[in-house]
Amino acid sequence: MKDKIAEVQLTAESWSPQQVLAWAFETFGNGVAISSAFGAEGMVLIDMASRVRKDFRVFTIDTEFLFSETYSLIDKIQQKYDITIERVFSLLSPEEQERVHGAALWTRDADQCCNLRKVEPLRRKMSELDAWITSIRRDQTSFRKGARKVEWDAKFGLVKVNPIADWTSKQVWRYLHEHDVPYNSLHDQNYPSIGCTHCTRAVRPGEDPRAGRWPGTGKTECGLHVIEIQPLTSLPEADA
Ligand code: SF4
Repeated sequence: MKDKIAEVQLTAESWSPQQVLAWAFETFGNGVAISSAFGAEGMVLIDMASRVRKDFRVFTIDTEFLFSETYSLIDKIQQKYDITIERVFSLLSPEEQERVHGAALWTRDADQCCNLRKVEPLRRKMSELDAWITSIRRDQTSFRKGARKVEWDAKFGLVKVNPIADWTSKQVWRYLHEHDVPYNSLHDQNYPSIGCTHCTRAVRPGEDPRAGRWPGTGKTECGLHVIEIQPLTSLPEADA
C-alpha cells in the first residue's frame, strides 16, 4: 500500500477535496473512515462526503469531556446525514481515570490525559482501518504545514487522507454558509477550535485561533497529528 500511495501522492495535490474523497472511498471502500471532532473543517468534510457517497463512515474520539454543544451537534449530524457516528471511548471512564491517576489529570499532565482519552482510543480504531480521513489544514499549526493530501501515516501504520490540507479558514466558512451546513454553536462565541471542556476557552480578539486550546501550557496538539509521516514526495513549489 505504501508503494501505491507514493504513486498518487504528487498527483493528489492537484485534486479537489471531492476528488480526494472519491479516490479514498473507491480505493479503500469500507476500510476508510472520516475522523472528526466536528469542528468547522470536519463539518465541511462530512457534508462533502455525503455528496460523494451515501454510506460513508465517520468516527469520533469521545473523551467524555466534550461540550454539550458538541453532543447536540452530533445528534444533528446523525439526523441530517442519516449516519451513525462511531464513538470511540477511553478504556478508563472519567471516574476510573480519577481513581488511578488522581483528580484533574489534565491540569497536571495534559499529555498523559490526552494519551489516555484520545491517542490510545485512536490507535485502537486505526487497527481496524486501512485509511483515515482528517480535516487538518496546513496553516493550522507548525506540525501540520507539511501535510500532504495523501500520505503514509507511520505512527499508526495506515494511509492518511487530508482532503482540505490546502484550504484556508475563509474557504471553510464560505463552504459552510453556501451549503447551509450545521456547525458547533460555540464557533459563534469565539471558540474557533473546540476540544474538551477542561482544556478549551474562547479566544480574545487578535489571538491565534488555537490559543484557546490548552491555554497557558504551550501545548498545541493532542498527539493525533504529531506523527511520523513519511514524505514520499516533495510538495509542489507553491505549497512548500
Ligand atoms: S484535551 Fe484536556 S481533558 Fe481532553 S483529553 Fe486532552 S488533556 Fe484530557
